Amino acid sequence: MHIVVKKLQLTDAEKALFEEPQFIHKKSLKIKKEDGSTIELPAFRVQFNNARGPFKGGIRFHPLADEDEVKALAALMAIKTAVVNIPFGGGKGGVQCNPKELTKAEVQKVARAYIRAFQDHIGPDIDCPAPDVNTTPAIMAWMRDEYEKQTKSYSPAVITGKPLAFGGSLGRDTATARGGFFILQEMMDREALDPEELTVAIQGFGNAGAHMAHYLHNAGYTVVAVSDSQGGVYSPEGIDPVRIQKYKGKTGSVAGEYCEGSVCDIGRMKMDNVQHITNEEILELPCDILIPAALDNVITADNAKNIKAKYILELANGPTTPEADAIFETMNVRVIPDVLANAGGVTVSYFEWTQGRSGEQWTKEQVDSELKRVILEGYKAVRREARREKVSYRHAAFSVGIKRMLEAMKVRGWL
Ligand code: NAD
Repeated sequence: MHIVVKKLQLTDAEKALFEEPQFIHKKSLKIKKEDGSTIELPAFRVQFNNARGPFKGGIRFHPLADEDEVKALAALMAIKTAVVNIPFGGGKGGVQCNPKELTKAEVQKVARAYIRAFQDHIGPDIDCPAPDVNTTPAIMAWMRDEYEKQTKSYSPAVITGKPLAFGGSLGRDTATARGGFFILQEMMDREALDPEELTVAIQGFGNAGAHMAHYLHNAGYTVVAVSDSQGGVYSPEGIDPVRIQKYKGKTGSVAGEYCEGSVCDIGRMKMDNVQHITNEEILELPCDILIPAALDNVITADNAKNIKAKYILELANGPTTPEADAIFETMNVRVIPDVLANAGGVTVSYFEWTQGRSGEQWTKEQVDSELKRVILEGYKAVRREARREKVSYRHAAFSVGIKRMLEAMKVRGWL
């Protein structure tokens, strides 16, 4: 963001609005555990900018969630909502805790305590949270319920990512992958590339990565490799994501059909022409499209030069370091940045918010066609900016987002 702010030659007053969030709220959540002990958890809600609409962004439960991380993520959300031009600003929340060390009842206590701590700062027209790392639809349901209890209101639009039975939207679970898929299809179409001749490697086989693997496989792309936290599988002839999903369900890992931990059935792998690969190796495989869909900072100055893909679609948040980005510019690798590539999730959250406010229930087809329209408009705005200014897609996306935010801030008289 700082590089783009510099290049856009903003005034000092304009720059200041991108340097610090509007509000940083901090609280300590006191939770009584089932063993009778009490823990205190640092909790944050950072509201970066609401010039374009209510603050919007997930809440993560993670041991490393701290003020700096939540601040950086809140700024990215403001850019993301502006890139796809939905009427939201950007925010983010976090609770510093390890949910794996808490019982289900204790996690519910954390969720409800978070809402009580920040209830004056959130609301359907103020700030609408959503799920993020380690927070689930069930947690969103407890949060909505607590908000409605505390405010004695009916407020389904206060939070998104809720279960379908409690005000969620159809298509929210697949939205991130679906949005990325629409962008990729549009790019390949424009470049007259045939999916049947394109190979793809996907790091991460969770919500974003697994759905993406299915969409690509069904559209005729050859998915040559997938991985999860325990490593991955590679076959130059392609793998079937349905089969991988089935075995992951049974064994807990994408390599589960062939390997138990690090012990693999070599004979069976030879027969299927499959190799076991590490999460470092998957990034450097020969393929046309690389999709990081797991962790941040996995593509760095150390491995960027070895990456063979010509297209990188960032479904994960922040998978590429700025140094790697600079290397890709010299290698003519096209990176579709996270603030555009994974914006399908927040776009369908916007549809959920709209449904919550109006009482309507959209069909799956409605969600799908609106998502396609919104995300492709965002993509086209970024592509135009990249061409006009002769900059990377990441630079162009930030530039589009910042300009849209500035426009709203001027109308509001903040500048
Ligand atoms: P998830 O928890 O469903 O899946 C994460 C996947 O990454 C799992 O398959 C896990 O095994 C794998 N993984 C974990 N550690 C790994 C490692 N060291 N190496 C390789 N793989 C590893 O998460 P998700 O919702 O799919 O999110 C993935 C990424 O996409 C994150 O960066 C997230 O911020 C981003 N994202 C997700 C959404 C969404 O709606 N789900 C929206 C925007 C961005």
